[in-house]
Amino acid sequence: MRRPLVAGNWKMNGTQASVDSLLEGLLDGLSAPAVDVAVCPAHVHLAQAVGVCAGTAVAVGAQDCSHMVEGAFTGDVAAPMLIDLGCELALIGHSERRQYQQESDQLLSAKLTAAVQAGLKPVLCVGETREQREAGEAESVVEGQLRGALDGQASLEGLVVAYEPVWAIGTGLTATPDQAQAMHAFIRERLANVAGVEPDTTRILYGGSVKGGNAAELFAQPDIDGALVGGASLDAAEFRKIIDAAG
Ligand code: PEP
Repeated sequence: MRRPLVAGNWKMNGTQASVDSLLEGLLDGLSAPAVDVAVCPAHVHLAQAVGVCAGTAVAVGAQDCSHMVEGAFTGDVAAPMLIDLGCELALIGHSERRQYQQESDQLLSAKLTAAVQAGLKPVLCVGETREQREAGEAESVVEGQLRGALDGQASLEGLVVAYEPVWAIGTGLTATPDQAQAMHAFIRERLANVAGVEPDTTRILYGGSVKGGNAAELFAQPDIDGALVGGASLDAAEFRKIIDAAG
């Protein structure tokens, strides 16, 4: 059985004060959730979040990591630094980084290697744009992103995949449960061809305008193993509803 994971991607939001109050709201009464829970604050808030979440059921992850281990890479944060801080996971290849930082499959493959080698669970984000879906290219795009990041990896320990159709991120549009299930089943089938991955035990999260009101019908699908949540994770009560729906 796959234990669901609900992870919040806080993106470039928050202050030290709002991080404290958001975590306080999230942790209040959340002693033994039936699912794994994680939050991914901005890098500058990671140490604070790790401190507040220590000894709780909430893991802390980063929104990105460098493809390099150390050295002259100004502004980057290496995976071993994140482990040293107490992070457990890292998002790799979120569509906003693919779009705004022009992150290529080749770079993401190297980031994934760095994350796994350091001991972080990599959450590889894949998903097609609206134009690609309308052109009937959704599956081929996602397959290309999977192969680009996963082929040739020496280890994929702890791999999580997040299917996030770009047209559903932050737009209020959500893939229907049938659309999401179809792509998740496709991803699981493709994972069977990747060396070092056990498709039946690999979690595949859905992301794209998940909220308390639509989470249950998505989680009822057999191949949806939780969610990567953006906007709704910035509201503790709404995020808790999603966590409850996953359990
Ligand atoms: C995301 O950015 O990973 C995401 C899923 O955002 P939202 O939930 O706001 O669509």
